Amino acid sequence: MAVFKLENVEDLYEIGEVLGSGHFGQVREVRERASGVRWAAKFLKIRRGAGSRLGMERKSVEREVELLQALQHHNVMALKDVFECRAEIVLIVELISGGELFDFIAEKENLTESEAIEFLKQILQGVSYMHSKHICHFDLKPENIMLSSNTLPNTDIKIIDFGMAHRFIQGEEYRSMGGTPQYIAPEVINYEPLSTAGDMWSMGVITFILLSGLSPFQGNTDEETLRNIVGMLYEFDDCHFSQTSAMAKDFIQKLLVKAPNERMSAEECLNHPWIKPLTRTQVAKRNRSSINMRNFKRFNAKRKWKMSYNMVSACNRLCRLQLHCKTSALQDEELRQCESDQEESETKTSSLLRRRLSSSS
Ligand code: ATP
Repeated sequence: MAVFKLENVEDLYEIGEVLGSGHFGQVREVRERASGVRWAAKFLKIRRGAGSRLGMERKSVEREVELLQALQHHNVMALKDVFECRAEIVLIVELISGGELFDFIAEKENLTESEAIEFLKQILQGVSYMHSKHICHFDLKPENIMLSSNTLPNTDIKIIDFGMAHRFIQGEEYRSMGGTPQYIAPEVINYEPLSTAGDMWSMGVITFILLSGLSPFQGNTDEETLRNIVGMLYEFDDCHFSQTSAMAKDFIQKLLVKAPNERMSAEECLNHPWIKPLTRTQVAKRNRSSINMRNFKRFNAKRKWKMSYNMVSACNRLCRLQLHCKTSALQDEELRQCESDQEESETKTSSLLRRRLSSSS
């Protein structure tokens, strides 16, 4: 069992504004009292008992911490310290001030493929590093790709949220059905043995969206999205890909491959001519091709709207749940029942893909 510091985090850090929220708590800016250095603190609510469904299992937090401790790379969010206080674990992590990559791009008037590739390259370097440590993120998506600052050229990609990540042990067979529908690989949906190739599928989806503003498998419901993924139903329609180079499409096609072992690895991606051009013609093609900015802005605005909508719905659900529990003066056993009722109202698919439905559909 991992041992975390038992001191009160507020004795050592001044707690500041909320930077973001996840399923199990908030992320806040903090200032270290001794040094004045600013960090981010991720407050995670821990489940109180085996029967409770509110909060995270301590084991999951321990796993996330262990993985973050194993990763030291400038494109991966760094972990500084971990505190435990009653039903909460607090991760002190590097403060990432530049916001989400997709928001940064959506502010621009236009972007060439070459400029987009500079960001993709850094994501791939972070992913390649994780995979070299046999760690797979399993939740790569725009919300988890941030920037260290919002001023070019002094900005680095930072991959965050290792809540779904897994470290593969040799000979181990690992299956999981977690993930965000739009971005998960077919083998996740089919509950087949997984590998680091799972992240490479997500990289294909992210690149597709970045270039076109279209999500390749998005259906009207999560079920339809999952069916589209398993059926490999995607295309480069002329209307959205008119400004895209053939090399970019080839790059995506080599990632959106159903058989995980036939997908490009992160290292292979970094050597693909679209990322690392070998000839002047290839360089020129990347400079001439651009991302479909109009549609990308539309995609991003819709994504942000859905994130806010889901956050409000989640808060409302929680408030209703708390009110119901208070007025009925439920005892612990009844409270548990109350929590599981809430989950039963989810669709079958959403309960399978429990943690990450939020911003996806
Ligand atoms: P989820 O439920 O989506 O898994 P989570 O509880 O694991 O979320 P994160 O995704 O790690 O939490 O963080 C939630 C939000 O907080 C992020 O989307 C981001 O906006 C913000 N955030 C996270 N880490 C940092 C950081 N190091 N610096 C600045 N903001 C951050």
